[in-house]
Amino acid sequence: MAKQAKAVVCREWNKPPVVETVTVESPKRGEVMVKIGACGVCHSDYSATNGTIPLPPPLVLGHEAAGTIVELGEGVTDLAVGDTIIVSWIPMCGKCRYCVMGKPQLCDQSAKATVTLPDGTHRFKDKDGKPLNHMAGTGVMAEYATLHRDNVIKIDPSIGMDKAAIVGCAVMTGAGAALNTVKIEAGATCVVFGAGGVGLNTIQGCAISGALRIIAVDMSDKKLEFARQFGATDTINPNTDGDAVGKIMALTGGGADYAFECVGLGATITQAYNCIHKGGTAVVVGVSKPGETVTLNAFLIPFQEKVLVGSMYGSARPSIDFPRLLDLYKKGSLKLDELVTATYTIDQAQQAFDDLVAGVNARGVIVF
Ligand SMILES: [Zn+2]
Ligand SMILES: [Zn+2]
Repeated sequence: MAKQAKAVVCREWNKPPVVETVTVESPKRGEVMVKIGACGVCHSDYSATNGTIPLPPPLVLGHEAAGTIVELGEGVTDLAVGDTIIVSWIPMCGKCRYCVMGKPQLCDQSAKATVTLPDGTHRFKDKDGKPLNHMAGTGVMAEYATLHRDNVIKIDPSIGMDKAAIVGCAVMTGAGAALNTVKIEAGATCVVFGAGGVGLNTIQGCAISGALRIIAVDMSDKKLEFARQFGATDTINPNTDGDAVGKIMALTGGGADYAFECVGLGATITQAYNCIHKGGTAVVVGVSKPGETVTLNAFLIPFQEKVLVGSMYGSARPSIDFPRLLDLYKKGSLKLDELVTATYTIDQAQQAFDDLVAGVNARGVIVF
């Protein structure tokens, strides 16, 4: 049954998002309706409000959520009303060449569902009956959302909604880059550029993998303080410490084994590539503006045999990785409680975005 729900909507780029009441349509075949329990405020949501990630408005924000299934569409037989789920913003189809080759994070179905459900239609309408786009094919900064069945992963209901929510983006993207995209050897030296919600999770992914030295680079001392809490052994603030690459070369005696770029800028990708030793691996996690380019010294490429690789959604296989990350949390290896440094009501969404831009939180979460 269709429901009325409050939702956080970007109406126009470079304007603050607004909270409005929308209609959430009933699930169609292969879909489910979810009562959202909590939704993290991710930097990508902010990027969607200013066109850095060019998803057209009007757009219901949010792609990092957990909730409870309240209605099943026709044909959904492997889930039940009352199940607790985490939203995956990649609806892996299981059939395309990428799913079959074991890279569901690159799924063709998901590439089509950027602002709609995979069938190309919307499940949100505004008060005038006009359709609203779904951020990342989900749009879960709302009291209710109708999603494709492939966008939800059933989890243990004992996990708090705010903790479960952030696994759906920041934790998966950040920790996954260290746990899935590359295989870090115990004792390795890692560098993480950017200590925001994603970078902090890359830091803890490196720590879980047994990295001995983890160097965090960020322009904010507050974020570097968080970085130490999540496992960074050294921190560099280029504002006060000067050239990061030179510092890293000195600290590591000639370059790190792995560098993770969690910022999304050509200049920091170049630094990540330059701060690893010969044969090392630089991983690009941050999402840049379309058209952003990277400058590398072409002459040195064959001599150094470095690897530069992208990491999409932490190379997630959500149905395997979400439960695994929650198991690491229950065991005490993965910090989630410490990540949620503030919670907000949906009516405080503007404050949550202001705090994101000010960089005061490890992660802010809207709790419903
Ligand atoms: Zn995100
Ligand atoms: Zn697929």
